[in-house]
Amino acid sequence: MCVNSAKSTIKFLGTAGARFVVTKQLRASGGIWFTLEGTEFLVDPGPGTLVNALAACPKKNPANLSGILLSHRHLDHSNDLNIMVEAMTEGGRVKRGEIFLPEDALNNKDPIFFSYLHKTVKSINVLHEKHTYQFQNLTFETSPLHDHGTKTYGFKFITSSGTIAHITDTKYFEEMLTFYKADILIINVVCCDYSIKKNNIEEIKHIFFPEVIKIVEEVRPKLAILTHFGLNMLSENPNKKAAELTKKTGITVIAAEDGMEINVDAYL
Ligand SMILES: [Zn+2]
Ligand SMILES: [Zn+2]
Repeated sequence: MCVNSAKSTIKFLGTAGARFVVTKQLRASGGIWFTLEGTEFLVDPGPGTLVNALAACPKKNPANLSGILLSHRHLDHSNDLNIMVEAMTEGGRVKRGEIFLPEDALNNKDPIFFSYLHKTVKSINVLHEKHTYQFQNLTFETSPLHDHGTKTYGFKFITSSGTIAHITDTKYFEEMLTFYKADILIINVVCCDYSIKKNNIEEIKHIFFPEVIKIVEEVRPKLAILTHFGLNMLSENPNKKAAELTKKTGITVIAAEDGMEINVDAYL
């Protein structure tokens, strides 16, 4: 039987990042399900979120969600937004949940949140950089605008016991070292080393592993969790890379696994 008695948790419904790992489902791509201060919410519902939530052990019930946050409109973060709204609102029958998303995910010739669902949720909130939002019993802040080619913001959740921050997709920028100071830090690490840049004409707007070392050393969280792995990072074994980081920094660093659930209270 599946039981989790922890009050505050972070559940990784998926840990895939970048196109190949997502489209081949080398890792699942379901985003992150948070339970903090008694509030359940979902961040970045990529492809497979609904399937992975219902298959989780214990099951994650979409009708328990109070909201869905979207860091940016890329498919690996937003694909299941509409179906999760349908599931959260029990087919639109119960007006429920708050949606937070960047402006270009809503007002665009290709909006990723279907208009027929707008009336089924309690509120739709456009994210702006460096803002503070009140959401149920939680406060969260948005990061400075990320450098990722589309409007992208990371999040910092402030609970009564501590802070949890999530660095979503972005090219490294200096200001992140101050904004992302938190007790628990989740970092999207698509790329392992700079060598893959040689094969790409387009600039890769993601965090590379050497930059993660700098971030962890500067932020010094109680726990750092790596996720959103691209092919290059997977081939290097994320567990090995996390252990390398722990040795180098003295900070507990773990690599997320599909379905992994973290007991937040143990670290705050
Ligand atoms: Zn991504
Ligand atoms: Zn992206």
